[in-house]
Amino acid sequence: KNTNAALHARRQGAVANGVANITQVYADRAENAEIWDVEGRRYIDFAAGIAVVNTGHCHPKIIAAVEGQLKKFTHTCFHVAPYGSYVELAERLNELVPGDTPKKTMLVSTGAEAVENAIKIARAYTGRSGVVAFSGGFHGRTMMGMALTGKVVPYKAGFGPFPGEIFHAHFPTAYTGTTAADSIDDLNTLFKDDIEPSRVAAIIIEPVQGEGGFNIAPPALLQALRTFCDEHGILLIADEIQTGYARTGKMFATEYSGVEPDLITMAKGIAGGFPLSAVTGKKEIMDAPAVGGLGGTYGGNPVGCAAALAVLEVIEEEKLCERALHIGEVVTKRLRTLQAANPGGVFGDIRNLGAMIALELVHDGDIKKPNADLTKALVQKAQERGLILLSCGTRGNVIRMLTPLTIPDANLNEGMDILEACMREL
Ligand code: PLP
Repeated sequence: KNTNAALHARRQGAVANGVANITQVYADRAENAEIWDVEGRRYIDFAAGIAVVNTGHCHPKIIAAVEGQLKKFTHTCFHVAPYGSYVELAERLNELVPGDTPKKTMLVSTGAEAVENAIKIARAYTGRSGVVAFSGGFHGRTMMGMALTGKVVPYKAGFGPFPGEIFHAHFPTAYTGTTAADSIDDLNTLFKDDIEPSRVAAIIIEPVQGEGGFNIAPPALLQALRTFCDEHGILLIADEIQTGYARTGKMFATEYSGVEPDLITMAKGIAGGFPLSAVTGKKEIMDAPAVGGLGGTYGGNPVGCAAALAVLEVIEEEKLCERALHIGEVVTKRLRTLQAANPGGVFGDIRNLGAMIALELVHDGDIKKPNADLTKALVQKAQERGLILLSCGTRGNVIRMLTPLTIPDANLNEGMDILEACMREL
């Protein structure tokens, strides 16, 4: 009989060690914001497959679109016998991303691949090689993705050498008390000491850092980067792989700053769980690489495209941007009430942009004293009590909440009840 323990024992023997498991909840089925494991236990899902099922598990509309496509064809390769759904999705994305400049799109399969391609396109367009990313940023596990990623352990250690000409500037965080101005100072130092701006192809930034701890880029930082990039012929790439698709209360988080990026990377929420990702950007930039330089066998798989078109309908019909704001309000209100009842305790900074919600756990109510052990224990305890939670952050002390945006209020409150009960027990 399949039990979580039996499967996990087999997993230990069969699956490579480097592939992490955050829980040992072996999934059997899932519906909207609930997951049932192979033993029939039910969980409230505050992870959404790491910000992927923004539209909930098994949304009937998305399943119907996928089933319809499965009966027609599963793969022809867009390079060989192209199909309309790829074209239609590109048209939709060109309209949806921020800014009025005419856009073009390319599709691949994973977030890391979207990042790889954005850098390729930026280098092809500018004829320059330098790229600046940010401390604490995460951009994927491919060679370029790792090079751009800030944190060394576990993402980069032992995997080098990486592609060259990659630099990092400081990203503002609550616990360092740094601001947009500090990041700009740091960038100016970088451009004075390490690389001339005329050799830099792109600056890549997450409008809200995901894996790095849900650190929110101040709109002033994105605006200053836009000005700096324009002055020096550098492209601005917004990595919206975790922040996009209504998660933050806007379709894309950069919209809060009013900045138009040159290129934008998307994945995760784009296709409700099917491996699909995109780079959308200004037409003349997207057209810089020569024919055949972009793409791949599976890029823009037709099943993924069918799902992605349905996802866009669901986001609009179910007003998921508004839902994201509502979820953010409900959860942060409850967290702040708990914090107020426990002054000087384990609650550090509580912050959110829509439904990207972070709770930092600390010692003595001091944001400079991260409590990673408690964070780990809370994730474990929550799992035992039927709530799937994730942590993140370069200091390992951030509980992040990424519910499906379709989560009913009853499930949202049930999840928060479990979280509160766990906090009382720890
Ligand atoms: N960029 C960001 C901002 C991400 O959050 C992630 C994944 O967490 C990636 C890139 C990599 O995406 P993938 O895991 O699909 O390769």
